[in-house]
Amino acid sequence: MKSVPVCIVGGGPVGMNLALNLAALGVRSILVNTDPESLTQPRGSTQNSRTMEHYRRLGLAQQIRKLGLPPDHPTDVTYSTRTNGWELARLAMPSESEKMRRVRESSTVDQVPEPILRCNQMYVERFVLDHLKTVPNVELRFGWRCIGWTEQADGVTVEIEDTTTGAVERISCLYLAGCDGGQSFIRRKLDIRYSGDGGAGNMAYLSGMMVSTHLYCPSFFKLFLHKLGWQQWTVNASIRSNMVILNGKDELILLTQLPSPDHKPDDALIAQKFVAAVGQAVEFKILAHWTWTPGRALVADSYGRGRVVLAGDSVHLFTPTGGFGMNTGVDDAANLGWKLAALAQGWGGPNLLASYEAERRPIGIRNTGMAKHFSRNVGSLPVPPEIEEDSPRGAAAREATGRILQTFTEEFASIGIQLGARYDASPIVISDGTAPPPDDPFTYVASATPGGRAPHAWLADRSSLFDHFGSGFTLLLLPRRKDDGEGLVAAARQARIPLTRYIVDLPEIGDLYQAGMALIRPDQHVAWRGDRTPDHAAQVLRTAVGYADQ
Ligand SMILES: Cc1cc2nc3c(=O)[nH]c(=O)nc-3n(C[C@H](O)[C@H](O)[C@H](O)COP(=O)(O)OP(=O)(O)OC[C@H]3O[C@@H](n4cnc5c(N)ncnc54)[C@H](O)[C@@H]3O)c2cc1C
Repeated sequence: MKSVPVCIVGGGPVGMNLALNLAALGVRSILVNTDPESLTQPRGSTQNSRTMEHYRRLGLAQQIRKLGLPPDHPTDVTYSTRTNGWELARLAMPSESEKMRRVRESSTVDQVPEPILRCNQMYVERFVLDHLKTVPNVELRFGWRCIGWTEQADGVTVEIEDTTTGAVERISCLYLAGCDGGQSFIRRKLDIRYSGDGGAGNMAYLSGMMVSTHLYCPSFFKLFLHKLGWQQWTVNASIRSNMVILNGKDELILLTQLPSPDHKPDDALIAQKFVAAVGQAVEFKILAHWTWTPGRALVADSYGRGRVVLAGDSVHLFTPTGGFGMNTGVDDAANLGWKLAALAQGWGGPNLLASYEAERRPIGIRNTGMAKHFSRNVGSLPVPPEIEEDSPRGAAAREATGRILQTFTEEFASIGIQLGARYDASPIVISDGTAPPPDDPFTYVASATPGGRAPHAWLADRSSLFDHFGSGFTLLLLPRRKDDGEGLVAAARQARIPLTRYIVDLPEIGDLYQAGMALIRPDQHVAWRGDRTPDHAAQVLRTAVGYADQ
């Protein structure tokens, strides 16, 4: 029987990220995925700033930024009566090259080294899977399904089946991670339920049953490229829809609502809706349909049991407004990855795994709630019947609707949700008694108060401070330090905790951290800060890796 520290079930973005995070710390995993290939249908189109920081940490951000839209394609969100009709509102947003130009010119203490990337997860997953094929510590089992497991005191025996031949294999592992999506077999077998809002509702849009359709349509781009940004919403009295531009030349997704929840999407219905949304006939080919339930804000009652843990959609289901679903799962994987690695390598304590749920479940609740709030805004927009009239009455209706739409920017600017996840109540965070910044979805306040994301800074050579953090813990030494942190380094060495020491002498960065030292976790959250090595250095480290004796 094959033996590996971690068996991951589900090779979507979350499972793949978990494998990458484990591999970064030198821990082997087997990644089992039912489908033989990565996602072939487009889904989420937002890789948010935190996700891109994780990809940067894993050495992949630059290449991922080359996928999807051409670098000069604007990422505006537009609202029109129809594509060929009146524009009601435009939320101007920069192209990828413009965003990166702004990053190059940003101040030393700018907090967004990795701006949001509008790129569909279908492209990113394909790239990450190809990359994983080159990562020595990951064994890929795509085309295999998990069909069961048994847990023993010291490990888990997982049963997997080849989806083509039916051959069954057993894998022995220390931990089983269920990253197997919204229908999660692992979660259901553990009898863990979702709680929250199941999505029932009666709004004009984003209610009932939605369908996403992947379209190939070069003529649409030839006709309308000059007007297109990244998303184009159609708002009129007879049809509401949203188009997401995928590659800027011939592919897009059309999102529309089905007439009733049990209505199957058929090509004729979608063709009719697409032509209505465009406002004129265009040639196109339907590549695939995919239905989904909008309005959900569901979080699992527990994030695992015993040696079995869950992450991503298997523990939270979002409505897509805000683009938080996958991104929250990628952040789960960053949190879980180092903890499983620590346990597999013997430097993690008995409370470490429980801290995963303690830290991430509140973030699941916070983020699903915010996505739901956005969906109410979009779904309940009143659309006056005369909005398409070429008359003063029609012009007034368009202006009034445009004014409301212009306030929807918040959905696309939720930097506080992206970067502001905090673990203040966590048993493995050592509080220094300072108050954390307020949790505001639209504002991110950099703060090294333990529990939050380590503040970012650019160094004199324009490298990111984050690029100097190790793959394990980092002891950041800042101008205000009273000693060189040797006590913490020695304690880490003794406890076999991987720790890198990094010295920064820029006063601005010292001010940002408001301390002489900060202990940064592998997921870039601050575990502890102070001005000098604490007398109880070994205890601080032990708490940070999950021993209870703080
Ligand atoms: C219309 C729409 C738009 C969205 N937009 C965004 C967005 O902009 N940004 C964002 O962050 N999120 C977005 N999302 C959400 C995002 O698509 C999901 O949150 C994300 O795919 C979840 O990733 P995952 O890895 O947890 O699960 P999945 O992507 O569902 O992957 C799970 C994998 O597990 C495999 N699997 C299942 N059972 C087994 C088994 N027994 N054995 C082996 N393998 C198994 C499946 O084959 C699948 O590959 C959107 C969703 C929708 C519907």
